[in-house]
Amino acid sequence: MSDYAKSIKDLPEVFQAVGINKDSHKAQVLLLTCIDFRFFDEVSDVIRSRKLCGDYDHVIVAGAELGPQIDFGKEPKPHWKQFFLDHLRLAKELHEIEQLLVLGHEDCGAYKRFLGPIDPDKEEEIHTMYLEKLKELIRQEGIDVKVDGFMLRNTVDCRN
Ligand SMILES: [Zn+2]
Repeated sequence: MSDYAKSIKDLPEVFQAVGINKDSHKAQVLLLTCIDFRFFDEVSDVIRSRKLCGDYDHVIVAGAELGPQIDFGKEPKPHWKQFFLDHLRLAKELHEIEQLLVLGHEDCGAYKRFLGPIDPDKEEEIHTMYLEKLKELIRQEGIDVKVDGFMLRNTVDCRN
C-alpha cells in the first residue's frame, strides 16, 4: 500500500486528533491572515484564546485586510480580491460562518511593498483604515458576515 493511500485511510483519526468534529459541517469563523510565517504563533494564540480549535476556516492573502484591496499602483491585483470574495462566499455557503476574523500584523511586508514606507506611529491607523475599507467592500458585495479585526504584534521568537 502506498503512503498516500494509507494517509487517506487514516484521515478520520487525524481529524479527531486535532479536535475536528467530522460530522459537523459548520464553522463559526473564517480567519483572514497574511502569509507572514513570523506571526503564525500569534494566530495560534488567538485560535486557542477564542476557543476556535476545529471551528474555523482559514484563508491566507498577503497583507490580510489589505490584500483583497490592492486595486491601485503599478501592480493592481483584482484577482486577489476575487480570490478572497469567492472564499468568503464559499465559507458561508459550505460552513455557514457568521464572522470574518481579520488578523493583520505589524511590520507587514505587503503594506510596505504596495504602499511604500510606513511611519510606525501611523501603522495602526493605516491598518484600521484598510480594515474599514474591507468591511465596506463586503457590505457592498452583499455578504452578510460580522467582521472583526486585530493587529498582531510579534512578541515571540520561535527559534529560541
Ligand atoms: Zn504581512
